[in-house]
Amino acid sequence: MSTRNPFLGCRAAFLSAVSVLTLLAAAPNANAEGDGTKPVTWEDILNDEKTTHDVVSWGMGVRNHRFSALDKITTDNIARLKPAWSFSFGDEKQRGQESQALVHDGVIYVTSSYSRLFALDAKTGKKLWSYSHRLPDDIRPCCDVVNRGAAIYGDKIFMGTLDAGMVALDRKTGKVVWNEKFEDHTAGYTMTGAPSIVKDQKTGKVLLIHGSSGDEFGVVGRLYARDPDTGKEIWMRPLVEGHIGRLNGKDSTPTGDPKAPSWPNNKDGTKVEAWNHGGGAPWQTATYDEKTNTIVIGTGNPAPWNHHYRSGPNGDWKPYDSLFTSGQIYIEPSTGEPVGFFQHTPNDAWDYSGNNPITLFEMEKDGKTVRAGAHADRNGFLFITDLDKLTARDGKISKQAGSALGIYPMVRDISWATGWDVAAGRPMEVEGQRPPKPEEGQQRGKSIKVTPNFLGGTNWMPMAYNQDTKLFYIPTNDWTEDYWTENITYKKGAAYLGQGFRIHRLFDTHIGALRAMDPATGKIVWEHLEAMPLWGGVLTTKGGWVLTGTSDGYVKAFDSKTGKELWKFQTGSGVVSQPITWEADGKQYIGLASGYGGAVPLWGGDMADQTKNVSQGGSFWVFEVQQTTAAN
Ligand code: CA
Ligand code: CA
Repeated sequence: MSTRNPFLGCRAAFLSAVSVLTLLAAAPNANAEGDGTKPVTWEDILNDEKTTHDVVSWGMGVRNHRFSALDKITTDNIARLKPAWSFSFGDEKQRGQESQALVHDGVIYVTSSYSRLFALDAKTGKKLWSYSHRLPDDIRPCCDVVNRGAAIYGDKIFMGTLDAGMVALDRKTGKVVWNEKFEDHTAGYTMTGAPSIVKDQKTGKVLLIHGSSGDEFGVVGRLYARDPDTGKEIWMRPLVEGHIGRLNGKDSTPTGDPKAPSWPNNKDGTKVEAWNHGGGAPWQTATYDEKTNTIVIGTGNPAPWNHHYRSGPNGDWKPYDSLFTSGQIYIEPSTGEPVGFFQHTPNDAWDYSGNNPITLFEMEKDGKTVRAGAHADRNGFLFITDLDKLTARDGKISKQAGSALGIYPMVRDISWATGWDVAAGRPMEVEGQRPPKPEEGQQRGKSIKVTPNFLGGTNWMPMAYNQDTKLFYIPTNDWTEDYWTENITYKKGAAYLGQGFRIHRLFDTHIGALRAMDPATGKIVWEHLEAMPLWGGVLTTKGGWVLTGTSDGYVKAFDSKTGKELWKFQTGSGVVSQPITWEADGKQYIGLASGYGGAVPLWGGDMADQTKNVSQGGSFWVFEVQQTTAAN
């Protein structure tokens, strides 16, 4: 295991050359864009989407467009993109780097694997400070030791930790201001997602919003709001129907119907065991609808994966949707009360976890402008939902009927559903795609083939929305699996799946596909195919291009209208992170982390074998367009 990666030495030499060049080329006033002392206000966060000098929210705006109005880097000059600098996260432990960086007042803040956070001089890449969270040996991350980013507000920066905690650091020094453990990590609670900041319009209070991971260990998914100054919990909302929430330290209300009719009862009238450990963890990042003052977040799969444990005594699964799992939930920020819910996979039998963030946008439909949410789901479909209906305070939470504007396949050969009854908001399931129970006396059920597999038509990696082309750019994967049930009993801290699987390729040509989709029609306008799975987020800009990373180490840019590849650069390890762009001293920069890992090498079957050739790493790269000079 201690084999040194020979590439690292080469890169170090290369880097020192680049740093010298960067220093020589530095503008006389290197701190023109700030020295890291300016506090971040709610207005900075709310306007993040429009301001090009900073990135102060996950998703580059509270609506998660991952779009920049910058147009200094264009389809004409992007081929001249060169590294400005690179920074190594260091340490022997590397693994997956899935982070999105933040940029504020001349400083880049980037999280990395094993709950680390770095503050870097945005001009030079010089480390200002770093923080490494002390992690116990018995943490239980299901899908690698990743971290997807930080939140920033006032004079603090906030990061979730793998031992089910949230830490606030002084932005200038990296010193811990507060450290709150929100759950028991030995039960499988953990934290990989980026927290976010919301200012509740009703109370005027600024809230730090975060969830947890852990559905694979049978946690009860919970969403939290904290005081960013003290870390103290303001409310907690469980995402399994009938579980009781908290507000200001006291029990508040049950989520949905207190009798939880979407989960079956045993013959004696008590709830089935699965209900106690029902999953639904909101492990990604919330978006925010300013107009209606609503928090919007995806919820994880029900636990266990094996749907027979969440079905009626006769295996009649239909009335048992396992609310509020595998869907998108709308929450009132002042109380944590749910106001709307749309389920992507009713009674999810396939770990299709609906966590990927909901992007809020406007769309022309039938001659009218409608406010919509877009969500790319692991179940293979792109969901376009009605934002006004789902945020309506009408006393009804589950809003399946009438809330979908369009539901479109993103990947090929989806096997579990032929499509959707859009008006009813229900999938048209294919018979035989729910894996059968093991026969009496058997431990394992008959295996079936399911597409997409549980890693999904897409997974956590966020898509981007271009406000000019009005297209979504979605990192998808075409792949399949053998899938069978297994008998399971809940045991604290042990995997709670009740399911076995083996992932396979579907086509010889590719697995990954970056797809441009029209949300008004569901049409795939173009696609770019990749040999390996795509596992990174996407960035798009007014400059007419789309940028993402590949598992074999490239950063690649494409024409946003045609999908034509315009530029690529090899970073030395797989890229599974989230690119950003910003402007300083009149120049546009692009930044992203490199470092291979995530769920594919751990769970990916045939694909995990394919990824063995990818070198580990952990670094942050910044690119700029090289100026043409008279000399060349
Ligand atoms: Ca901004
Ligand atoms: Ca899951």
